[in-house]
Amino acid sequence: PPDTSIAVVTGGNKGIGFEVCRQLAGGGFTVVLTARDETRGAEAVEKLKALGLSGVVFHQLDITDASSVATLADSLKARFGRLDTLVNNAAVTGVEHVIDSTNEEKFSGLDPYQRLEWMLNHIKETIDGATKSVQTNYYGTKNVTQALLPLLQSSSAGRIVNVSSDSGLLRLISNQEVRMELDDIGNLTEERLDELLGKFLKDFEAGALEAHGWPTGSAAYKVSKAAMNAYSRILARTHPALRVNCASPGYVMTDMTRNSGVLTPEEGARNVVAVALLPDGGPTGAYFTEGLEASF
Ligand code: NDP
Repeated sequence: PPDTSIAVVTGGNKGIGFEVCRQLAGGGFTVVLTARDETRGAEAVEKLKALGLSGVVFHQLDITDASSVATLADSLKARFGRLDTLVNNAAVTGVEHVIDSTNEEKFSGLDPYQRLEWMLNHIKETIDGATKSVQTNYYGTKNVTQALLPLLQSSSAGRIVNVSSDSGLLRLISNQEVRMELDDIGNLTEERLDELLGKFLKDFEAGALEAHGWPTGSAAYKVSKAAMNAYSRILARTHPALRVNCASPGYVMTDMTRNSGVLTPEEGARNVVAVALLPDGGPTGAYFTEGLEASF
């Protein structure tokens, strides 16, 4: 097996994920850049190779596709026999921004924070989009993690960094019972998390988000990130030999934010990579926002 650290990054073809791949490869990692689309992924790898980063390989991965996840796990096992760092970066908002030519001009005149506010007030959210967001951001992340856990456990310093968001902070959930359950990591189980997400989607469909104290405005994105955070903490508790942390990159100019934001993808990725590079024996089950430890 190679003596460099091996990292897998999901959603590595663009945005923050691409930059995480570039920075880890520049730091001497062997990086498995994954993307759901073969062409977009292979192009991204070529871009990195053109920068002189030879330690980058491509593997297809759609985090919502069980057979794609299993194929990745098998080929990592055959090729490397272990995994040192997993960066779960891939995500979708599941919403459409209602920005057309009539209001495009207004949008472009706003500052980044006004744009964020504007985007939250001009979105179309459907049950299909909400389901997709939960399936990707929570279940997809969880399924990739489960499949790669044995390989991470074969590393002397297995690390997982889940790319999160301040949108997933517990204070955005006004339902006190739900908020307390998600924070009660000593007692929370994966089964209970699944139940809570089922309840959320039911309430979404019934138009009862506000009535039941769920977040609104990109509701599924927020709840899926909160669930991913809670899952990370459960994993940190049950796997003390691993380091499992969440990292929020900050407000970054990518396709996800319609290229508004206050950080470049390079800067946003730095906040993620910093958590991946924390020293052995460092924190686990923690949340970092823009590089600083904070509460969930
Ligand atoms: P982008 O939309 O630019 O990139 C998202 C990446 O995820 C793309 O590579 C996309 O692939 C991939 N992806 C989506 N669904 C899947 C899937 N099912 N399987 C595999 N890959 C998938 O977003 P960002 O770079 O901005 O976001 C990266 C992470 O940072 C996300 O977790 C996001 O929630 C988080 N974040 C971003 C913030 C920001 O301000 N930008 C703020 C806080 C958090 P494809 O190209 O094929 O669509």
